[in-house]
Amino acid sequence: MSPACGATYDVGEVRVACERCGGLLDVEYDWNRLQPPDNLRYFEQWWGQRRIPMRHSGVWRFHELLPYAGPESLVTVGEGQTLLQQSDGAAAYVGLKPGRLHLQYEGMNPSGSFKDNGMSAAFTHARLSGASRAACASTGNTSASLAMYSAVTRLMKAVIFIGSGKISYGKLSQALEYGALTVQIEGDFDDAMARVQEVSRDLGIYLVNSVNPFRLEGQKTIMFRVLESLNWEPPDWIVVPGGNLGNSSAFGKAFAELFKLGLISRVPRLAVINACGADTLYELYSRRGLRWNSGQIDKQLIADYYRELDERQKKASTIASAIEINRPVNLQKCVRALEICDGVVRKVSDQDILDAKAQVGAGGFGCEPASAASVAGARLLVREGVIDPDERVVCVLTGHQLKDPTATVAYHTTDQEHFQKILGSRGIQHAAFANHAVAVPNDLRQIIQALEQHS
Ligand SMILES: *Cc1c(COP(=O)(O)O)cnc(C)c1O
Ligand SMILES: [Zn+2]
Repeated sequence: MSPACGATYDVGEVRVACERCGGLLDVEYDWNRLQPPDNLRYFEQWWGQRRIPMRHSGVWRFHELLPYAGPESLVTVGEGQTLLQQSDGAAAYVGLKPGRLHLQYEGMNPSGSFKDNGMSAAFTHARLSGASRAACASTGNTSASLAMYSAVTRLMKAVIFIGSGKISYGKLSQALEYGALTVQIEGDFDDAMARVQEVSRDLGIYLVNSVNPFRLEGQKTIMFRVLESLNWEPPDWIVVPGGNLGNSSAFGKAFAELFKLGLISRVPRLAVINACGADTLYELYSRRGLRWNSGQIDKQLIADYYRELDERQKKASTIASAIEINRPVNLQKCVRALEICDGVVRKVSDQDILDAKAQVGAGGFGCEPASAASVAGARLLVREGVIDPDERVVCVLTGHQLKDPTATVAYHTTDQEHFQKILGSRGIQHAAFANHAVAVPNDLRQIIQALEQHS
């Protein structure tokens, strides 16, 4: 269904935009007919059925809350075995009381990012519609996920479009090794995104970017698992990095549906965090007052801003490559989510992102740079007094630490030249939480001396 104009389409159709108004589409359910569970504890019965792949999946064990396909069509590679971890170390950094900060590690998905939640859902829909090829444009993680689902399930051939030069080696190595047809475009992500939409329309290739509404259905389950880990008690805040704004949009839809179905009695507040170098949502929502306005969003405001970007030839630029996006495809749905969740938007610098990332990593699991924007954003909101130190906060860590080791190693290096080359060029001047390696000659006595000195 089109949230803007109300036009409806059949679930079997392959569409990423409304024919009537051109807007994004939503998956809508006839809940009266589908009879969803009346209590979230219903889902606990599936914990004892982990031998069944669909109930082992962290997405499909919530099938009753995204019931657009029958059980026979569901696709899984074992996604969604992720972890919500209380992190008192990061809480102290953020300025929250002990026990008040939880980190949701979505990097523990099979391809190393939250994208697998949505990919299992998109593949399920693609299978329903009989597609044989799937494509995406990607800053890296969507392509890694698409390539993995193609290789594991053999349901479709993967075609991925990447901008030149920006993708991290960890992510590129996945797409290449899993055998995806990889097309490197001279341009950035926004360019690749525009081209892949044209190519899939012209060649009838199934598009799995988050303009695909079924992807967002899968991403709703990140919030279901957060609730599950918190004994079904909604936290006060969900904090998430904002790139193409698929996650934030999906979270808003998840909470709206849970609330409407009477499965939660309170909707958490949502904070979406941009990087300073890719801050379209911040600019439009927090500075220019863009609002959902019952679906009548001010499109002129958006068009004017994009024209300004073009006139200034401003390209997105941040160390957090997964959110290095200036034209977020889910902008309007995200603004709706912000309304549903009484949300706020902030932006954080690359310096703050890497410092926050170091603090997360010091807690043991780690994350990639874009993910740490959530922690840096939570810290900013505590400092502003928007989040109270007593409130319960969940930061979503979207991708695995090993996705992008370049930034991590540069942050901790003792080689000033290397630091300047990778980070200095981005305005990062210091590494307050660096854990420097100790250089020692190959000599037992000196090694022992060094150990004594540093312990
Ligand atoms: C895709 C991605 C994001 C951005 O998520 P959106 O849903 O596009 O806003 C953030 N972090 C990581 C690691 C990602 O892969
Ligand atoms: Zn429409």
